[in-house]
Amino acid sequence: MKKQFANQHRTLESFGYEFLVICPNCQKQATVLSKEAFPFIQNSNKRFVCTHCGLTRDLIPKKNQAKQNIIVYQRTFREGMICIGGPFDWYYGYPLALQNPCCGKTLWAYNKEHLLYVKSYVEAEIRDNYSYYLSVESMLPNWIKSAKNRKTIVKAITKLERKLSI
Ligand SMILES: [Zn+2]
Repeated sequence: MKKQFANQHRTLESFGYEFLVICPNCQKQATVLSKEAFPFIQNSNKRFVCTHCGLTRDLIPKKNQAKQNIIVYQRTFREGMICIGGPFDWYYGYPLALQNPCCGKTLWAYNKEHLLYVKSYVEAEIRDNYSYYLSVESMLPNWIKSAKNRKTIVKAITKLERKLSI
């Protein structure tokens, strides 16, 4: 039977409750946690924790003059803003632990649930039409959507899954 992917209308922002990152102090896997997943929620404390070296950092995102969180969408991190769209966490800009070179690009995911969500999409030979325009599946780049890259990407995801048990 062919694998199917049914649209779940999940946005990238909905996965922002946890980022598996590389610790800037010991270079091992650490975590950035946010009680609220969505980046526009104000006065929400963000915490970096490394259980390997014990480093912790807390941060509350800065606001603009209208007292809203400053959110930018771009592929390189900018200090002092909530920066979404590249292989780093939104608040500290630490590199994601779940990233791999793949098909000449970089495959990345924030956490286990995000990785498995992308995997279920990539593995599916039958996909729903008309995905919600802000959903993860509609925003994935074409090289991830392409059937000819499916096997290569699934392999890269399987490698990343091994990092989840570390
Ligand atoms: Zn550390």
